[in-house]
Amino acid sequence: KAKSQGKNDYMIFSPEMYINESENLLLENDLRQAINRDELFLVYQGQVDARTGNIVGVEALIRWHHPEKGLLSPATFIPLAEKTGLIFPLGDWVIRTACEQHQEWLKAGLPPIKVSVNLSAQQFLKQDLVQTTANVIRQSGIDPQYLEFEITESMTMDYSYAENVIKELKNLGVGVSMDDFGTGYSSLYYLKRFKIDAIKIDKTFIDDLCRENDDATIVQTMIVMAENLGLRVIAEGVEDRGQLDYLMELGCYFIQGYYFMKPLSGNKFMEEYTNIVEEVLSKR
Ligand code: C2E
Ligand code: MG
Ligand code: MG
Ligand code: MG
Repeated sequence: KAKSQGKNDYMIFSPEMYINESENLLLENDLRQAINRDELFLVYQGQVDARTGNIVGVEALIRWHHPEKGLLSPATFIPLAEKTGLIFPLGDWVIRTACEQHQEWLKAGLPPIKVSVNLSAQQFLKQDLVQTTANVIRQSGIDPQYLEFEITESMTMDYSYAENVIKELKNLGVGVSMDDFGTGYSSLYYLKRFKIDAIKIDKTFIDDLCRENDDATIVQTMIVMAENLGLRVIAEGVEDRGQLDYLMELGCYFIQGYYFMKPLSGNKFMEEYTNIVEEVLSKR
């Protein structure tokens, strides 16, 4: 097993690693069954237009209610899902569930709300993504303009492949945004050529926006660039009033973060919709 890790040919096993390996094996078995056992669920975090207070979209974020370990965040199991191939059934489930939730909200009388779904690299690179997405759109009945995928810069290393997939997704009517923008490698030239809809400025740049000149400069540059390329800009991880004010001064109005709204279950979001909207409005 040490050998299979590639460049680390001379790695020595420590007791901790054995524990981690066997724990991972157990977790892998659990994850295999989690979908069928209804242990996975999505929570939804609003993306707010700070000018109007409107919730313009939500990002779907996966959670796992593990029978013994309790609530697990994606950081603990998405890497495992990617390593084992479980990301494919899991990823399909996320796309389907997000679309069905959108439809359920509509039926409950909520306005149509765009739902953003995170893709993993393997999903993006798998041949059947576009077909799967087309099937889910047809079966759920979602108007595709309300579905958006979030990809990351590292997924687009193979430019022509990425360009083609994005084009096919856009042909379906689905939006594509660049998540965690600024943390990976990216060519501005391809950012334009890909015809993506939006960039999401990573939380790491937002955290110290009001304290660090460098971060403020980087964020300002991203906003100006996005504007010139005709891309929507969303700031991620906005936690306080100071960050919000600063972003609005720089011309970034699409805000996602705990300041406006923490991720909520689909039902909670539906039941509390009116209150949530009022709270967002009052914080603006
Ligand atoms: P991401 O796509 O960049 O999602 C944003 C993360 O930031 C979420 O963490 C969200 O809860 C958190 N966040 C949002 N606003 C704030 C804030 O104001 N303060 C702080 N401290 N955090 C904030 P989460 O839900 O733990 O997800 C982590 C990552 O896991 C996501 O990062 C995404 O890369 C991945 N992920 C989540 N759901 C899925 C999924 O369904 N499929 C795949 N492939 N990956 C997913
Ligand atoms: Mg995301
Ligand atoms: Mg992000
Ligand atoms: Mg991410």
